[in-house]
Amino acid sequence: MLKGACPREGPGEAKMIRKSPWVTFYDIGGCNGCTLEWNAAISPVYDLERFGIKLVDSPKHADIVIIAGTITTQSLESLRRILKNTPKPRKIIALGSCAISGGLFKQSYNSKGPLDHLVNVDMYIPGCPPKPEAIIHGLLKALGRKE
Ligand code: SF4
Repeated sequence: MLKGACPREGPGEAKMIRKSPWVTFYDIGGCNGCTLEWNAAISPVYDLERFGIKLVDSPKHADIVIIAGTITTQSLESLRRILKNTPKPRKIIALGSCAISGGLFKQSYNSKGPLDHLVNVDMYIPGCPPKPEAIIHGLLKALGRKE
C-alpha cells in the first residue's frame, strides 16, 4: 500500500543544488522535538541563513523540502500535496528517526512507514532529535559544501 503512494523521482532529477537554496520544513507527525531543534537551527544563535540558505513557507518556492516526524494516516495526504507542489529539481531530506525509520512510533497502528518508502530521499539527518549542528551539517552536505 505504501509503495507508489507518492510519485518517485527518476534518477538524476534531484541534481545538485548548491547556491542560495530555498528551504521549507514540515513536521508531519512527530512529537515536536525535531521542530524545536529546527527552530533553534534557524534562530540567531545558529543562524542557518548565514550560509545563504533561505527559508520559505510554501513548497512551491522550495528547492529543498525537509520532512520530520512519522507519516500517519492523517498526514499522508498533506505529504502528497507538499511533494506535488514542490518543483523539480528538488532535494528531499528526512530529519530525525521518525522520518527515517518510523522511530518511536514505528509499531503504531497509525504509522505509514518511513519517508523513503514513499519518495526518494536525498539526505538523512539522524537523531531523536538531531541537534542544530547536525541539521546544519546535513544541509551543507546535501548542498555538496561538505564531504
Ligand atoms: S525523531 Fe524523536 S524528536 Fe523527532 S519527532 Fe520523532 S520522536 Fe520526536
